[in-house]
Amino acid sequence: MKFENTLQFATEMDNNDSLRAFRNQFIFPQVNGKDVIYFTGNSLGLQPKIAKNYVDEIMKDWAELAVEGHFYAEKPWWDYHERLAKPLAKIVGAKPDEVSVMNTLTVNLHFLMVSFYKPNSKRFKIICEEKAFPSDQYMLQSQVRFHGYEPSESIIEIKKREGEHFWRTEDVISKIEEVGDELALVLIGGVNYYNGQVFEMESITKSAKSVGAMVGWDLAHAVGNVELKLNEWGVDFAAWCSYKYMNSGPGNVSGIYVNEKYLNRTDFNRFEGWWGTKKESRFLMKPIFEPIASADAWQVSNPAVLSLAPYLASLQLFEEVGMQALIEKQKLLTAYLEFVLQEVDKAVDSTFEIITPKSRGCQLSVFLHGEGRSIFDYLMKNGVIVDWREPNVIRLAPAPFYCSFEDMYRFGEILKTGILAE
Ligand SMILES: *Cc1c(COP(=O)(O)O)cnc(C)c1O
Repeated sequence: MKFENTLQFATEMDNNDSLRAFRNQFIFPQVNGKDVIYFTGNSLGLQPKIAKNYVDEIMKDWAELAVEGHFYAEKPWWDYHERLAKPLAKIVGAKPDEVSVMNTLTVNLHFLMVSFYKPNSKRFKIICEEKAFPSDQYMLQSQVRFHGYEPSESIIEIKKREGEHFWRTEDVISKIEEVGDELALVLIGGVNYYNGQVFEMESITKSAKSVGAMVGWDLAHAVGNVELKLNEWGVDFAAWCSYKYMNSGPGNVSGIYVNEKYLNRTDFNRFEGWWGTKKESRFLMKPIFEPIASADAWQVSNPAVLSLAPYLASLQLFEEVGMQALIEKQKLLTAYLEFVLQEVDKAVDSTFEIITPKSRGCQLSVFLHGEGRSIFDYLMKNGVIVDWREPNVIRLAPAPFYCSFEDMYRFGEILKTGILAE
């Protein structure tokens, strides 16, 4: 498609957008009396208007039913989490039994490491990407130390090549083959938080499985953003947070995926609690743990229902829109943003560079040469919400659920004015 950097073209694109009506399902913060242009859906998604109703429903049931709400609320609390598994399974390409919702992301990664990182003196190494999200680095280092190994000997970071801003799949795969039978686990962010790169999850998973390693993916920036087929790809486990592209609310609960081959097993390491034991016998308070035959076996405590409520609201919107339609718009919208950035770059005589590779979701990371921080401040003051990463990177994530082509055009104009005013 031939893009044009005009308001008329952007408006036409919006008029032809079948997802256009969804924008109105979300609440936009205001700056100078106008809806902001929101580029940080990769950090905290906007609030769906229906989220409040879902939370209010729990508050009302709690007021009117108190403890009876566990079983007699309209959506009973004791199995409320099960309502989230089915729509989530579609989003991550899994079977509903392979998905559960609990805790928060880093907590879940720790819990999953109990099951999927079982090092021995021969096979103890972990492969991850260099400069992974800090929480993932701390998690891996502390797990390795917990098992009595040295992070410096056990954790192998895949580096980018000199002068390049992205990871090459062949470098990941050749490292997996090189480490071979010493490799216990590959754990990488499916979409890198910094440069927005989508890793080739399928081929990396196959490669790791072929040398006998476990494979997990941190899908924080991937879920609700790119196509996932965890079951088909043979991924062992995955976890994600729900407050980024999933729009579930700040710090909200995490989801996990556990491959079906590990379900319904008692010969498997797992930290356990009463919410993972069979529902039929749970309230008999027996001393023997009988795992639920689904990823719910990894649930430890009874979940925070007040947190599940806005997540369920958001999943209802995902059900309505469908991942395929969302991904199609995402490709077009991000391509249009890239085009607008290139047009601005020409107009201001090249002051920045897009460091996100072609294998991407909806995020573009832009490296600003020169006065980066002041441009960031200018954007924020003018109603463009972006995020800043040291040393000089602005991340732009136009979430296709609620961002418009007009937003991209208007952003370009504000950016141009800001740079020229420098
Ligand atoms: C956002 C993000 C996290 C956040 O972890 P929490 O436990 O939810 O605070 C962790 N890892 C990655 C890769 C992320 O992008």
